[in-house]
Amino acid sequence: MDPLDEALEQPARTPARTALSFELIPPRHDADEAKLKDLVSGLAAYKPDYIAVTSSRRSGWLEGTADFIARLTESTNLPTIAHLACTAGTEEELADWIRRLIDSGVRGFLALRGDLPEGETSLPEGYLQYATQLLTLIQEIEEENAYRLAAGKLALSVACYPSGHAESPTPDLDLDVLLSKQRLGADFAITQLFFAAEDYLQFAEQSRMAGVRIPLIPGIMPMTSLKRVERMGVLSGIEVPQTVVDALSSASTPEEEYEAGMQLTVELTQKLLDAGVGGLHIYTHNNLAVTEDLLSRLGIEKPTN
Ligand code: FAD
Repeated sequence: MDPLDEALEQPARTPARTALSFELIPPRHDADEAKLKDLVSGLAAYKPDYIAVTSSRRSGWLEGTADFIARLTESTNLPTIAHLACTAGTEEELADWIRRLIDSGVRGFLALRGDLPEGETSLPEGYLQYATQLLTLIQEIEEENAYRLAAGKLALSVACYPSGHAESPTPDLDLDVLLSKQRLGADFAITQLFFAAEDYLQFAEQSRMAGVRIPLIPGIMPMTSLKRVERMGVLSGIEVPQTVVDALSSASTPEEEYEAGMQLTVELTQKLLDAGVGGLHIYTHNNLAVTEDLLSRLGIEKPTN
C-alpha cells in the first residue's frame, strides 16, 4: 500500500479528555462531617487532575489549608495544590509553611500575592510583595528538597486575569506580569472568574501573541444567585455585566434564579469547550450538588473505570 494511503487509513487519535480540577475552601471547625465526606468522595468520583485548596485569614491562613490537605490526602489519592499567598506571613514564615506542606505530601502550589489590606498599597517589611517573588522562594525550597521529590519538581501555578486585575493601570501590565510568572517558572495559570467567554478567549489570544505558552486554565464560577454573583464580583474587583444582572433579577423565585444563572454558566463554559479550551477549573464553593449539576449539563460524567 502506498505509505500516504496507509497513513490516511490510520484511525484518528482520540482527543485528550478535558482536564478537570476543583477549588475547595478549608471547612470551618463546626462543619457537618457527613456533608464534608460526601463532598470529598463526590468530587473524587470525577477523578479530577487535582484539587486546589484556598487559604485565607478566615481559615487561619495556611493552618486551615494544611489541615484540609492532610485530610484529603488521608481519604483520597487525589493530587493537591496549596494556595499560598504573600499576605499569609513574612518570607520566613512562608518558607516554613512551604517545607511543612511538602512534608505533608503537597506537590504543587498556587503562588499568589493575596489581596492587600484595606487602604494599603504594599505589604509590611519582611513580607514578599509580589507573587513572582513567592515563585522564586518556592523554587529555592524545592531545590533544598530535590532528593525527596520524585521527579525533582513541584507543580507551580499562578493567577491570571481575563478581565484585568483591579490594581493594574493597563491590560499590558497584566500581560507583562503573566510573562514574568512564566519566565520565573510557572507551569500553568488559573484565571480569576469572568462573566463572558469572549473575555477569556480574547485574553488567551493576546497572551499567546505576547509569548505566553503555559496553559491558562479558565476558573469557572457557577452563577447560582444574584447575591452570590455580586459578592464575588466585589471580592474579585470585577463589575457584573448588566446582562447577567438582568437575567438573574428577572427571576421570581430562587429556583428560577438558579436556573437562569446555571444556563448562563453552561453557555459560557460550553463556548470555551467549543473553542478548544482543554481544561476547566471549577470554583466549587464546597457545593457538591451545584458542581455535579454544572458538569452534568456540560456532559462531563464521573468516569466508570
Ligand atoms: P501579583 O501577580 O503579585 O499581582 C498583584 C498586582 O501587582 C497586580 O495588579 C499586578 O499587575 C501588579 N504587579 C505584579 N508584579 C509587579 C511588579 N513586579 N511591579 C509592579 N506591579 C506588579 N487570594 C487569597 O488570599 N487566597 C486564595 O486562596 C486565593 N486564591 C485565588 C485563586 C485564583 C485562581 C485567583 C485568580 C485569585 C486568588 N486569590 C486568592 C486572589 C489573589 O490573591 C488576588 O487577586 C490578589 O489581589 C493578586 O494576586 P496575584 O497573585 O495575582 O498577585
